Amino acid sequence: MIFRELNRAKCKTYLIGSEKDHVALLVDPVREKVDRYLALLAYLGLKLDAVVDTHTHADHRTASLDLKELTGAQVIMHRKAPAPHVNLHVDDRAKIPVGELQLEVLYTPGHTPDGISLYTGDRVLTGDTLLIRGTGRCDFAGGDAGEQYDAITQKLFALPDDTLVFPSHDYRGNTRSTIGEEKRLNPRVMGRSREQYIELMNNLGLPLPDNIQEVLQPNQSAMDDDRLRFPSLAELNQVRQLNPIQVQALIDTSAPIILDVREPEEYTGELGHIPGSILIPLKDLTSRSEELGNYKDKHIIAVCRAGVRSTTAAAILTGLGFDHVSNLKGGMLDWNNDNLSVERR
Ligand code: FE
Repeated sequence: MIFRELNRAKCKTYLIGSEKDHVALLVDPVREKVDRYLALLAYLGLKLDAVVDTHTHADHRTASLDLKELTGAQVIMHRKAPAPHVNLHVDDRAKIPVGELQLEVLYTPGHTPDGISLYTGDRVLTGDTLLIRGTGRCDFAGGDAGEQYDAITQKLFALPDDTLVFPSHDYRGNTRSTIGEEKRLNPRVMGRSREQYIELMNNLGLPLPDNIQEVLQPNQSAMDDDRLRFPSLAELNQVRQLNPIQVQALIDTSAPIILDVREPEEYTGELGHIPGSILIPLKDLTSRSEELGNYKDKHIIAVCRAGVRSTTAAAILTGLGFDHVSNLKGGMLDWNNDNLSVERR
């Protein structure tokens, strides 16, 4: 197995490759370093099979979209990942082949709802769920400290103690740890109950990242151009969130406008769409907003895959003077989970 960390920086990108089969996978590539990754892959004679983002990143732009376009590599993320450019959605215990090697997916949410770890037998890439002597913050981007505690203590700490730990970030110059060391020495988790961990993580008092418009939302929507001005965190937080049952009740009683902002192939894809909805992909929303001109005073409910891109859409429409806009919380993923009616054509 070829195993390298490529960035030598706080943000880690790992290359996992097979010498025998001349294929490789990149985990958490950073957009500014695409040229470096492609040069190294060529130097090593490795074909890039796939790119995995361990979660939707809030601190750097992912290179997954660029690498997909340039090399045809598949983009792999957890099924709750909001972005439309993912080719393969995976869930807990899925296997990702890299030539003769196999990575096992462990669903480890908490830092974000779409967090995964990748386990190969002697090592585990823990994303931002478990860091070296730390854990990833879970106070924004849909994080959940209780889920994170469960993922760390029940899934990652269930691996053998000598399993090497490689996180997505390290702010102190560490490069690796082991599960055993983190069990004994991780100051966030060690000796804390689930309740105590939640209390700690919900009161870290960290400032919110100020680049939410430049990084998080472009990663969530895999959008790369200036056709859209992304809303601020304050604008996003003002969007009214309705769960699927509430939305179905409104459809039954008051005929709201259902605005789906995904890509056309998602609209007719596996998750389908809500019957009677209008499709305007997020990237076209500003330029096509006049198509919604007759609905300025109607209730518009924005819909997407996970409820993330549609929150952006709802905030944009509110900013354009639409008075009554809500979001389908949890998107078509939750809508399908609740077995509500779906059309696929
Ligand atoms: Fe992160």
